[in-house]
Amino acid sequence: MTDAAPRLFFAVWPPVGTAAALADWAREARRECGGRATPRERIHLTLAFLGDADPEMARARGAAIRLPGLSLRIEQARYWAHNRIVWAGPLETPAGLQALARELGETRAFAAHVTLIRKARPPGTLPPPPALEWPVTQFTLVNSVLGPEGPDYEVLERYALE
Ligand code: ATP
Ligand code: MG
Repeated sequence: MTDAAPRLFFAVWPPVGTAAALADWAREARRECGGRATPRERIHLTLAFLGDADPEMARARGAAIRLPGLSLRIEQARYWAHNRIVWAGPLETPAGLQALARELGETRAFAAHVTLIRKARPPGTLPPPPALEWPVTQFTLVNSVLGPEGPDYEVLERYALE
């Protein structure tokens, strides 16, 4: 099953304490909306979804980035009806993150969000998310390998911000 078409994406992974706080929040919020909470180690923010792109081109794109690190605030939690996810993120996408997503090849509108619950029902009132400040100092190129128990993330490369 590993010769399936690649599903490449660039993402940032939170520090372990940040991920733990978000995972705890997701388990609590699930009482409001059901669905599948993202396990702690899978929590990430997707910068650019490249799908079936040439891995060498993707690696070159990552290596060409010369952008500064930044800080990402978690300030709100929302439900999106169109894909039935609950996410947490900043009130506004930081300009630096927008620039990073664009340079990494994301062509669609980019709204910084961290998916915390999938297949959720529309919630009543979500609990307030933990106020976090997530230092973004590196990003990764990942391949999502679809297996019988759902996708498995395979880290292909890590890149530092400046
Ligand atoms: P599942 O699909 O089982 O919920 P997943 O979303 O984590 O798992 P993938 O579907 O392989 O796994 O997606 C990997 C990452 O890319 C996720 O962050 C996902 O939100 C994002 N992604 C997937 N498809 C798209 C797309 N068409 N546009 C933008 N981002 C996408
Ligand atoms: Mg998906």
